[in-house]
Amino acid sequence: MSRSAHPAGPRHADVLPEGHYSAPAADLNALDEKVWSRTVTRDADGALTVGGIAVARLAEEFGTPAYFLDESDFRARCRAWADAFGPDADVFYAGKAFLSRAVVRWLKEEGLNLDVCSGGELTTALDAGMPAERIAFHGNNKTVAEIERAVEAGVGRIVLDSFQEIVRVAHIAQRHGVRQRVQIRVTVGVEAHTHEFIATAHEDQKFGIALADGQAAEAVRRALSLDGLELIGVHSHIGSQIFDMAGFEVSARRVVQLLAEIRDEHGVELPEIDLGGGLGIAYTSDDDPREPHEIAKALSDIVTRECEAAKLRTPRISVEPGRAIVGPTAFTLYEVGTIKPLEGLRTYVSVDGGMSDNIRTALYDAEYSVALVSRTSDAEPMLVRVVGKHCESGDIVVKDAFLPADLAPGDLIAVPATGAYCRSMASNYNHALRPPVVAVRDGEARVIVRRETEEDLLRLDVG
Ligand SMILES: *Cc1c(COP(=O)(O)O)cnc(C)c1O
Repeated sequence: MSRSAHPAGPRHADVLPEGHYSAPAADLNALDEKVWSRTVTRDADGALTVGGIAVARLAEEFGTPAYFLDESDFRARCRAWADAFGPDADVFYAGKAFLSRAVVRWLKEEGLNLDVCSGGELTTALDAGMPAERIAFHGNNKTVAEIERAVEAGVGRIVLDSFQEIVRVAHIAQRHGVRQRVQIRVTVGVEAHTHEFIATAHEDQKFGIALADGQAAEAVRRALSLDGLELIGVHSHIGSQIFDMAGFEVSARRVVQLLAEIRDEHGVELPEIDLGGGLGIAYTSDDDPREPHEIAKALSDIVTRECEAAKLRTPRISVEPGRAIVGPTAFTLYEVGTIKPLEGLRTYVSVDGGMSDNIRTALYDAEYSVALVSRTSDAEPMLVRVVGKHCESGDIVVKDAFLPADLAPGDLIAVPATGAYCRSMASNYNHALRPPVVAVRDGEARVIVRRETEEDLLRLDVG
């Protein structure tokens, strides 16, 4: 199979030899700023510090494993996205990447909006004081109870995902005597993964309503005909961990084409389009993500050009980055427990967490980096696989990486770029206690999500 033929890009396992890994970095003690949060550095003793606090102190106070979130980095990324898109566009943080009440307050203070996709996320957002009009509600199978709560709360938009939902939301809104602002999620036939994308006529997936065969046009027709709905725009989300803007280009072109068809058929120009999230981050030094201002300019240029060609007013653009905001802001800190050298293969390094705090490696074959952080070392690099303590051989945190050969039990190692889809996807497998999230800022560390306890486990188990 040729490399370019693979839709998921050349870095996927089936086009590279098993056990492919990059060469060790020239200096294993160096911290690549692409993969570590902004305030991470090493102190005079060689220990990693974040927000001015050394990891040994963090481990002592909060235990391991734990996620440490660099709050000033999170806030700076929010501001960078808001500034890049400016007052004529909207940035919605995708709460599913990681959501807590502290995060909601930071988003609110930094001027971002928020995407939720479940009753639980909606509750968290409202409880922490996010104004309902700044919340968008997503999901391919929202329950009637969830829709009721969203409508009652007055969320700014509900993103309609199916023909059934168009009717459900319209009914509920009408019962509440309101016109609910909605967008229709369309699938544009673009599949984006990592470094490549493919454009297809149809998409074989559960989300949205297909542009193909006039499905989306029919959904628009129905939404426009229902009193309970105010159709404000069209939504498209094409994938995740995307580096190549070409996928967004095809998506934007197809969405604008639909807006032109809507104008021609109904005489209305919908005022908004949402191009979704999915912007990639650096998990390893091999990844080269784009800056928010480059992404904003690229998206705005594409939409403006397509609208000019279709003689449409340029709609207000919104985007929904999750990973690109929170992903790089946190690392997971682990203590090394056992070390097993397998002659001629690699060395297995077992840590005190695993697939219960980071399922992405097992689930998506995700790549991560790792560093020895409690000290520096001049020892030779050794090829390692960082594994957890779960009863499963797929319990891998970092598949292939290099750590110094003098690594010893008791050393602290950290996996960067674990802010997104790690705590939010964490599980209690093997009755593991889900780790805390600790926010660190200007020399202060505070727990924003506490560690689970054995009492928490027993409380759910009613005997
Ligand atoms: C998951 C998701 C996002 C966020 O994706 P990231 O890869 O975290 O940026 C945005 N919009 C929708 C509709 C999603 O499902």
